[in-house]
Amino acid sequence: MRDKIQFDSNMKDFFETISVETDDIDICREKIKKGLLIIGSRLRMGKAVIEYSAPKSKLIDEDEHKRDIIFECDDVNDSPIVFDFVSPNGAHLIVYDYPLGAEPYTAEEKELHGFIMREIYFQFSRTVMKELLTKVMDTDLGTGVSSLDSLMRYAGKCIRSGTLQDYNAFFFNIHNFKYVNKIFAYAEGDAVIREYAQKVKSMLLPDEMIARLGGDNFVIICRKERTKELCKELQNIKLSFSNGVREKEFLFGATIGLADLDGVTEPREIMSRTSVAYSVARRKSAGSVVEFSHEIQRKVMEDQVVVSTFFQSLMDGEFIVYYQPKVHVRDKSLCGAEALVRWVKAGTIISPMSFIPQLEQDGSICMLDYYVLEETCKFLKRRTDAHKQVVPISVNFSRRHLEEPDIVDRVVSIVDKYGVDHSYIEIELTESDDFQNYEIMSNIINGLKDHGIRTAIDDFGTGFSSLNMIKKVDLSVIKIDRSFIPLEKDYSGKEKDMIMFDSIVKLINQLGKSIVAEGVETKQQLNYLSTVGCDVVQGYVFDKPLCEKKFEERLEVGYIEA
Ligand code: C2E
Ligand code: CA
Ligand code: CA
Repeated sequence: MRDKIQFDSNMKDFFETISVETDDIDICREKIKKGLLIIGSRLRMGKAVIEYSAPKSKLIDEDEHKRDIIFECDDVNDSPIVFDFVSPNGAHLIVYDYPLGAEPYTAEEKELHGFIMREIYFQFSRTVMKELLTKVMDTDLGTGVSSLDSLMRYAGKCIRSGTLQDYNAFFFNIHNFKYVNKIFAYAEGDAVIREYAQKVKSMLLPDEMIARLGGDNFVIICRKERTKELCKELQNIKLSFSNGVREKEFLFGATIGLADLDGVTEPREIMSRTSVAYSVARRKSAGSVVEFSHEIQRKVMEDQVVVSTFFQSLMDGEFIVYYQPKVHVRDKSLCGAEALVRWVKAGTIISPMSFIPQLEQDGSICMLDYYVLEETCKFLKRRTDAHKQVVPISVNFSRRHLEEPDIVDRVVSIVDKYGVDHSYIEIELTESDDFQNYEIMSNIINGLKDHGIRTAIDDFGTGFSSLNMIKKVDLSVIKIDRSFIPLEKDYSGKEKDMIMFDSIVKLINQLGKSIVAEGVETKQQLNYLSTVGCDVVQGYVFDKPLCEKKFEERLEVGYIEA
């Protein structure tokens, strides 16, 4: 057909006009209109209408349907020829081409119009495809919200126009999402997260944006004045979801790292600020909101130094075990000890509170706990070999050990490696908030018990510890935290605390468990504890945690003057 067309200057102008590259469908439509104005009369065209329709897809939320007049003059024949073009993505472009005047198009005209309309369709579908491609790159296909790339580009635009300072950003993770995958199949979990993301998107203003980072992690840029409101809404997202068999209501919260974007000069700073705040929020507890500050950033960097230097420091012998005696109240006999680790760095003793939380977060704590166990076993073996007195020593094991399938075997093999009698080792565990851990904890405790190794529950009376735990899990020792022990100076106003403490001690005794009261500092506390039936205490009233040498001296002399 191209050969048959006379390529006069009008025709050339037409092709040049419609061939201008664009990835914007509106611009494409305008250039087609402009092109037809050049050759419309030559083609004896009265009117042309295009109808574009595209089915709903992962990229298009609703079926799309658009109608547009691309050429029009008076005196139009009302029986058009219709061209229907179908794109590979299922989209249709229908062109209604009306001749000018009463006469229908001749066969030759039809052929020419067919050729012109095909060119128009070609330009149109190219633009649609380009638009789709940009959308693919800008969209997270799993949820239909923006991709991180797209959010970064948007932030770049805001930086250039000087408007980013009007916004705050959130980095957040859906709290409790893991239960969705437990209840539903994986594919249905995907559908829930899509619905969740769409719901959050619907709460945003046109100049705000949500992007998915992967999994159940998202970033939002929102207007400063709406931060509080959005934070609150994110803590309370209700969704009901049915998979045809089961209908389930979900209430999602979020753990949020928040950052003011004032002073941000590069888009990636949004991620560094919010992720620092998020890492602190996550460590605090699920559902917390933490705002970025330079102070927080400094702390997170320090934590990273702790974690990154840990392994070499362990190899270099910088971790030292201290022992804090446990004492029988009645006869002041030294009946046990707790192993407590110290980090000796460049001659300075660092308290475990300054590095245990970081190592817990990272998971390296497990290696340290095994190291402390091994050092304790070596100590007991040295004394046994020298025919000196030994006492049972308890070693702290972080909750992170609950993830280890072979913890019992590893503990037993370390104790056996040094030939230490199992009754001289006790493992201190802390209760966690996850009820599912009861079973895992119970298995560990029973496994250790089968080998004659006792376990203690640490910090009873704080956080998540509960009587339920004592009932369900076969523990040997309950260590009562100092915060739970009524202090003598508060006694007058603390009758209820005393009644509770007294009853719980009785209950634990009746269940046949041993009690150790921790953090006992004064003689008055000591007297009070002995009257309520707390027989063993650990605290500054007798000793602070002692280095090995001092502890050995204490083992020799005991507490004659105490
Ligand atoms: P924890 O297991 O509750 O250990 C008792 C803490 O209370 C020790 O602090 C001890 O020094 C302190 N303490 C003892 N008596 C008194 C007292 O009369 N008054 C006061 N105010 N405090 C007293 P420390 O040694 O700083 O250890 C802190 C925490 O670090 C421990 O708390 C334990 O949770 C953790 N930790 C220490 N060593 C290890 C370890 O080897 N592995 C693990 N996983 N955690 C450890
Ligand atoms: Ca402990
Ligand atoms: Ca404790």
